[in-house]
Amino acid sequence: MDTGDGERCGGGMGGDRRNAVVTGGAGFLGSHLCERLLREGASVVCVDDFSTGNPDNIAHLMSDDRFSLVKRDICTGLEVDGPVDAIVHLASPASPQDYLRLPVETLRVGSAGTLAALELAKRTAARLVYASSSEVYGDPLVHPQDETYWGNVNPLGPRSVYDESKRFGEAAVAAFVREHGVDACVVRLFNTYGPRMKPDDGRMVPNFVVQALEGKPLTVYGSGRQTRSLCYVSDTVEALLRAVGSDHPGPMNLGNPVEMTVLEVAELIRDLTGSTSEITFLPGMEDDPRLRRPDIALARRVLGWQPEVPLRQGLAEVISSFRDLRAAARLGAVD
Ligand code: UDP
Repeated sequence: MDTGDGERCGGGMGGDRRNAVVTGGAGFLGSHLCERLLREGASVVCVDDFSTGNPDNIAHLMSDDRFSLVKRDICTGLEVDGPVDAIVHLASPASPQDYLRLPVETLRVGSAGTLAALELAKRTAARLVYASSSEVYGDPLVHPQDETYWGNVNPLGPRSVYDESKRFGEAAVAAFVREHGVDACVVRLFNTYGPRMKPDDGRMVPNFVVQALEGKPLTVYGSGRQTRSLCYVSDTVEALLRAVGSDHPGPMNLGNPVEMTVLEVAELIRDLTGSTSEITFLPGMEDDPRLRRPDIALARRVLGWQPEVPLRQGLAEVISSFRDLRAAARLGAVD
C-alpha cells in the first residue's frame, strides 16, 4: 500500500495484515475496532483483563469463528498462537476517573504492558500501532497541538499516572523501532466518544448524557471555559486502520479539530436530549488541560484521513444508545 505524501491509504488493513491482535479489545474503542476489523475480513485476537473493559461490548462477536478472546493482564506477558500481522495496543484505563482510581495499574500497563506488546511485535514481525494520547501534551502551552510539541506535563500531579505512562509507552515504541527495527506507529488520540462508553465512566460525554436523561444537573468542573475536541468513534477506528495499513512511524495526532468549551458541550447535550436539567459548576480538576485541539495536517497528508461525523450526529448516537440501555434496564427491573 502506498503511503507516500498525498497518497490516500485504503480503509482496510492491507491484504497482508489479516491476523490482528487488539489489546484492550473489550473496551469502548477496542470493541468498535474489533468489530470493524472482522468486517474487513481480518481474524482478531482480543486481549483484555476486563479491569475497565466489559464483556458485553464483545458479546456479539463471540460467535464469529475469526474472533477469539484472551482474558489476560498483558503486564504478565503476551503470547498469541499463530501468525500475527498487526497489533493495535489500546490496553489502559482511559477515563480520568478510572486512572485516578487505578494509578499503579495505569503506570504498569503503559510500561510493562507496552513492553509486552512490543516484544510480541518483535517476535512476530507484526506492525504495531500504539494508542498514545493527547495527554502527552499535558496542559499545553502551544495551541493547537502539533506533533512537534513536547508538552507541558506535571510529572507528580494526579494525572501524571496516565500522562507519563503514555509518554513512557511512546519512548518504549521509539526504542524498539531504533534497537530492534520493529515496525510501529505512535498515534495520539484526542477525546474519542461514542456508544459503549460506560454510563458511569466519569468522562464529560457520558456524564452529561446520563445527567440530562435523568433530569439531574449537568456537572461542569471549573469554569467550563476549558476546551476539548471530540472525535466520534467510527472516525477514530477508520484512522487506526489506516495507521495499521501505512508505514509511517508517527507520532501522529488523530482527532477532530472542531474545538468547543466544556460548557458548550453541556449545553449542546442538554438541547439534544430535550432536557430541562440545570447546569451546575463544581470545583475544577487538578491539572485539567485548559485547551485541547489537534493539528491533524500529518494524518490528512499521510493517511488521507479526516473526521467525517459531525458532533451533533455523534452525540445523537450516544444519546440514543444510552436511552436504549435505560429502557433495557427498566425492562430488566420489571422481569
Ligand atoms: N468534565 C466536566 N464534567 C464532568 C466530566 C468532565 O466538566 O462531569 C470536564 C473535565 O474537567 C475536562 C473535560 O470535561 O475539562 C473533559 O473531561 P473528560 O473526563 O471527558 O476527558 P479528558 O479530556 O479530561 O481526559
